Amino acid sequence: AGLIALGGLTACTSGGGDSTTSSGTKISGPGKVGVILPDTETSQRWGTDDPKLLKAAFAAADVPVDIQNADGDKEKFKRIADEMISGGAKVLMIVNLDSASGKAVLDEARAAGVKTVDYDRLTLNGGADYYVSFDNKAVGELQGKGLVQCLTAKGVKVPKIAELNGSPDDNNATLFKAGYDSILQPLYDDAVYLKGPDQAVDDWDNDEATVVFREMWNQTGKGINGVLAANDGLANSVIQILRQSGKNGEVPVTGQDATVPGLQNVLAGDQCMTVYKPIKKEADAAADLAIKLYKGEQATAAGRVKDTESGAYVPSVLLQPQAIFKKDVGSVIKDGFVEKKAVCAGRF
Ligand code: BGC
Repeated sequence: AGLIALGGLTACTSGGGDSTTSSGTKISGPGKVGVILPDTETSQRWGTDDPKLLKAAFAAADVPVDIQNADGDKEKFKRIADEMISGGAKVLMIVNLDSASGKAVLDEARAAGVKTVDYDRLTLNGGADYYVSFDNKAVGELQGKGLVQCLTAKGVKVPKIAELNGSPDDNNATLFKAGYDSILQPLYDDAVYLKGPDQAVDDWDNDEATVVFREMWNQTGKGINGVLAANDGLANSVIQILRQSGKNGEVPVTGQDATVPGLQNVLAGDQCMTVYKPIKKEADAAADLAIKLYKGEQATAAGRVKDTESGAYVPSVLLQPQAIFKKDVGSVIKDGFVEKKAVCAGRF
């Protein structure tokens, strides 16, 4: 009710609300900030955490925001963007479904004079005004190091590793892989670890991950000793297959996002670790930039990231991720990201 009240209030104040001249002519659109999130299936965050935290950040600044989710559908993504832009959005913030469709939307926004922010995923060749994310290569490094730590603790000699990568269309997935391969490749090269199957999962699809890993598992004669899974959703698909062979807990699996199911898998000992990205900081930093752009104030970002396709540098804010092993789960609860009763429901 608080948010609704604030939203209503915003619509009645200056600085973005509809303005009316003394003669009663409408001179501007609703002038909101439009946010498009990608889907609700590939990570708990997009349907739960990001919208909640972004909404709170904009409400605190009394800036009207329209947050929508494309449900993994590129046409829907474009439709939402069209509506936001023609509806007079002043700023558009997107998490692209892939760079090509993201770029089309950013181009359209730019042509309409709408400022743009890439949220979490960089749109290659997209030319967004700002980019806010985590240090995604560091995310991958934490995953690689985490897997090594769990394998060492288990004392597995020359383990065979399977890699289950994120969507090939997601620039983050490329960065995560660069991060974990920087840890794993030298071990493969030195024959300390054996390189097993290595495959991307289209669109981060958890069902496809089940199919992909089942095949890896069978083709290697169940001979995989550790799995680098790029996020908690993929990890959970892997764990289901391992469970069917009674190998869950024996084969370390990595993850990312500190989702409730991921943290439960970590507590159960079925998942080696996850990566906690304090999304409140990401939402706050992105909202802060969007609010400045919305108000026509000077926005600044301390860092810059090179767009590997266009070669341009995008002003960026990159935040630090944290590795979460079983002993660290409490810290994610303490940070307010997940509720203890949710994580501890059921078995715990
Ligand atoms: C995000 C991850 C998420 C994945 C799948 C990535 O771009 O950085 O947090 O798990 O997409 O949705």
